[in-house]
Amino acid sequence: MRRRVLVAGAGVSGRSAAEALLAEGAVVTVTDASADRLATLEPLRSRGAELVAGLTEPPHGTDLVVTSPGWRPDAPLLAAAAQDGIEVIGEIELAWRFDRDSPEPATWLAVTGTNGKTTTVGMLESILRSAGLDAVACGNVGLPAIDAVRAGHRVLAVELSSFQLHWSNTLAPHAAVVLNLADDHLDWHGSLAAYGAAKGRIYDRAAVVVFNADDAWSTHLANARGDHRIACTTAPPESGQIGIADGRLLDRTDCSDGTDDGAVLASLADVHPPGPHNVTNALAATALARALGVRAEAVARGLHAFEPGAHRSVVVAESAGVVYVDDSKATNPHAAAAALGAHPRVVWIAGGLLKGADVDALVSAQVDRLDAAVLIGQDRDRFAAALARHAPEVPVREVDPGEAGATGEAAMVSAVGLAAEFARPGTAVVLAPAAASMDMFTDYAHRGRAFADAVRTVVVRDQVAE
Ligand code: ADP
Repeated sequence: MRRRVLVAGAGVSGRSAAEALLAEGAVVTVTDASADRLATLEPLRSRGAELVAGLTEPPHGTDLVVTSPGWRPDAPLLAAAAQDGIEVIGEIELAWRFDRDSPEPATWLAVTGTNGKTTTVGMLESILRSAGLDAVACGNVGLPAIDAVRAGHRVLAVELSSFQLHWSNTLAPHAAVVLNLADDHLDWHGSLAAYGAAKGRIYDRAAVVVFNADDAWSTHLANARGDHRIACTTAPPESGQIGIADGRLLDRTDCSDGTDDGAVLASLADVHPPGPHNVTNALAATALARALGVRAEAVARGLHAFEPGAHRSVVVAESAGVVYVDDSKATNPHAAAAALGAHPRVVWIAGGLLKGADVDALVSAQVDRLDAAVLIGQDRDRFAAALARHAPEVPVREVDPGEAGATGEAAMVSAVGLAAEFARPGTAVVLAPAAASMDMFTDYAHRGRAFADAVRTVVVRDQVAE
């Protein structure tokens, strides 16, 4: 009998889930709170989908609900489904089940963590392709996993958010890693423990458990899981670890080529963008690839060939000895710490929506490298208070969006203008907001573009003034 499926949420993954289900012959209804977003799926009507805005109960006879990852379990529709005993899963779980049902299932390598996921799956994809494998990065990044499965790729480097893991219950990747865990999305999960538990689900059925020995949460979540474990560290590796020694990535696990000192996989110079956090990401990507038997030469070539994503530690300009760095993707304090930590002297542009996170620890850890701070966005007062408490010597300027002319772009021009006044040769002006962008921008990419445009405006203006 044809199954009747409700797709909740008409975003990118909802569309792909609906398309896959229609192709399978299911009876599909799609709902979304926003009629406008739902209208983007209008072409699916001709293929048999029913589109209904604002459903609060599954249609009669629904067998399965496939929810968008952002929906919380207490959303009225999902609560009603649970009440009726209808199974609710996410698009990742749907992709997994489709893949298992296919004649030749793919190999899944799964990555989660608060920060570094996209970079790590990108590095992993590059390494796997260097090894000649038909691999693709997918999941929370760009390509939905269900599309990757339907395209028939052999190895999936799957980025998973805590939300996606929450909505997955049979996923069994070949190897999995939790990179790190820090305050983020606590408004969704309620507590760090609940957030950690959602991330830890990635290990539930993984054959190889990869973890970051330098991160207490990653180590804790991996504790006593899996028969085959690989630890990563930026320190010289002990037996069973992949780590760094003498400027090289060294494998001392049983994936190693068997020499006593372990196998040299790559040079640190192959890892980019620079910064200790990207070394961690490279080690994790390497460990996942090694868990699949990828050889050392492919690791070095893959890391070297990796093209970093936009808005992640990107130098957008260099002028009069000052570098301007766009790390708009640093949307929480833990990411901002990594972004700032890659530079000895910094003028910091920060602020936005804090999502319940605390900035005190971030500010107190960064005090020594801060020449000044320029604050933007809704929660800038919380940043100002933390700076006053922990860094009273550091000059702070705040950009009031009203005074700056109300648009995010105008506020960013003011912020970069103020930052440039503090910058000296050898300083980096770093946009690492430690907060989400939606108070002033469409998303982090919009914020990053506004920064790059503002830098061009300000740097050109300064050069003309000279
Ligand atoms: P995610 O997909 O988890 O958001 P990204 O790879 O897109 O991660 O990186 C987001 C930001 O997080 C980067 O711009 C950088 O500021 C920071 N970051 C990247 N890797 C790490 C890491 N391993 N630890 C801490 N922060 C990191």
